[in-house]
Amino acid sequence: MIGAIEAGGTKFVCAVSDNSLNIIERVTIPTTHPEETFDSIFNFFDQYELKAIGIGSFGPINVNRQSETYGYITSTPKKLWRNIDFLGTVKRRYNIPIGWNTDVNASALGEITLGAAKGKSSCVYITVGTGIGGGAVVNQELLTGFGHPEMGHLLVPRHKKDTYKGVCDYHKDCLEGLASGPAIEERFGIRAKNLPEEHEAWEIEAHYLAHAAMAYTLILSPDCIIFGGGVMNQKHLLDLIKVKFLELLNDYVNLPPIDEYIIPTGLGSDSGIVGSLLLGKSQLK
Ligand code: ADP
Ligand code: ZN
Repeated sequence: MIGAIEAGGTKFVCAVSDNSLNIIERVTIPTTHPEETFDSIFNFFDQYELKAIGIGSFGPINVNRQSETYGYITSTPKKLWRNIDFLGTVKRRYNIPIGWNTDVNASALGEITLGAAKGKSSCVYITVGTGIGGGAVVNQELLTGFGHPEMGHLLVPRHKKDTYKGVCDYHKDCLEGLASGPAIEERFGIRAKNLPEEHEAWEIEAHYLAHAAMAYTLILSPDCIIFGGGVMNQKHLLDLIKVKFLELLNDYVNLPPIDEYIIPTGLGSDSGIVGSLLLGKSQLK
């Protein structure tokens, strides 16, 4: 059996599956104090004979194997989780092979293996939720370098009507600072899910996300860009992004058909946990 942890800032999802990735059981655990959260994770996994585990974690995290702090969560705004040896803590408990990457890289892997990008050799996955993050598979490999991509913290040109200061702890008005769920909610003083479709919020939101899609396109030239996360529950938003994105690109790049290029998730809210199972399974080879 394979275990997986999708670690998020508000909740952890843990699952176990067979080798064909059929999920046998899953639990959701609130993200509280690390000790308490790990206790709940171990209570769940202790019931199973696991061969490998995959972890897709919120970050930033250290994915550099040469580093002394490989496997740690590093500079997260969540203070209790800063400098936590996530991988080491799980490894000491189970001592089996463990795959380790970001939640969004895991989601990209899930989507390209079994979701909306199935059959493609590259994709970008971006989540627009409490934060904004992006992961990528390029030539069938997860994209990492000295660290991992931080696609949510791009600097994007301001929308003409937008004077909101931005919510990012590190950069104020980066993409996450201007277009995450909390940014929408603070700018307009209303829950994002309660903003009507015709509200100007969505035009502003699409402006920022289209700029992000343009940057990902120009730098990575992926086969597709998948938009997930809570804010994308606004089904009309994806079309607005496509329109703005095409305007910005101005026919400069010979794109795949737009409806096959900027697309919603294939696995819904399961991209992360399925991708984490795949990270675990990849350790068995
Ligand atoms: P997380 O990012 O914490 O993993 P989500 O991806 O669900 O979780 O994102 C939560 C964010 O998405 C919240 O900031 C919330 O405002 C926003 N959100 C959730 N549902 C909707 C909706 N139906 N429409 C617009 N925004 C939503
Ligand atoms: Zn930022």
